[in-house]
Amino acid sequence: MIPLRIKVEANADQPFVVRLRSFEFAVGEQSTEQMNPFEVALERVGPEGADYVGEGGPIRILGIDPSKVDGDVLLVNPRRGTADRLIRSASQHNTFLVTERCDQVCLMCSQPPKNHHVDLFPHFETAALLAPEGATIGISGGEPTLFKTQLFRFLERVLLARPDLSFHVLTNGQHFDLDDWEAMSRIDRGRVVWGIPLYSCDPAVHDEIVGKTGAHAQLLENLALMCRLGAQVELRTVLMRPNADWLPLLARFIISTLPFIRTWAVMQMENIGFGRMNWKTLFYDSSEGFDVVSRSIDLVRSRGIDAWLYNFPLCTVPEPYRHLAPATISDWKRAYREECDGCSLKARCGGFFEWHPANHGYSNLGAIQ
Ligand code: SF4
Repeated sequence: MIPLRIKVEANADQPFVVRLRSFEFAVGEQSTEQMNPFEVALERVGPEGADYVGEGGPIRILGIDPSKVDGDVLLVNPRRGTADRLIRSASQHNTFLVTERCDQVCLMCSQPPKNHHVDLFPHFETAALLAPEGATIGISGGEPTLFKTQLFRFLERVLLARPDLSFHVLTNGQHFDLDDWEAMSRIDRGRVVWGIPLYSCDPAVHDEIVGKTGAHAQLLENLALMCRLGAQVELRTVLMRPNADWLPLLARFIISTLPFIRTWAVMQMENIGFGRMNWKTLFYDSSEGFDVVSRSIDLVRSRGIDAWLYNFPLCTVPEPYRHLAPATISDWKRAYREECDGCSLKARCGGFFEWHPANHGYSNLGAIQ
């Protein structure tokens, strides 16, 4: 698995953000006049690590080939001797985890909520400003809008300073209200997509899945507000046994009540966190029961709304629908199995989550020749 945290040595007291520059220069040949204050240049590589220098002082990266982190933006925690790779320059899957707090307790949550919270928005802002040209950065949690004042200000400022960047924000959609109108209006709507889960058109089913009474009603109210704001909404529905039979009804509800959404994503589960604990009662084997999925996305697409399949191994999807199943599993947690050897679809298949169990899951899968 691609490491998101690496070891560092840095002579500082407080966390800081830095971008590594390595191979534009020959090792040892610094061009500090071309660097900004948040950059360090590779000076020397030895058995003890890779040494970088910059305005903020030297840092040493340990245990990873510097060519693999060239251009990365790190949040260095010098006391712990670690650095989080906030932006991996070669990846399309960079996400800022802004909090682990959440007000919902979804049955299949891959990252169960924690109370502890540290505000890292100032660091995220610096990191975003150092992102590669044209990057799309994910924002996730926990629930990012629990800190919506900071979030809105962050989005507004970064999008103003970097007209080439865009964001994809995962949110439960519970916390928007009319008072946010002004702050949200200042955010460039064309460059932010809000990924919001809706699990069923039946309030009881949705509320049961998210563990919060009244969540469905609040969500619909807030989706209407986002429609009036002209926000781009990607509606997300994780497919599970409790809601699978409802999927065609949800599709009908979307075309009648939520036709303003940008996309609808039907998603497969991730076997980690609560998703692992509840796997036996929740996992829906779409390789056997694809009919509810195909009917639902056919209906939504027939009304001009994009519908996609996220996290579906391609061999579990009937051929006519495979073009709707992009490789959405992030590179750092994507894995393939023995069955994938020699598969003709592997280059465009997202495979499995690294932690997907080999002994239970899809009953029909295997290499496509
Ligand atoms: S066998 Fe593996 S690579 Fe091929 S479609 Fe299935 S999951 Fe994807």
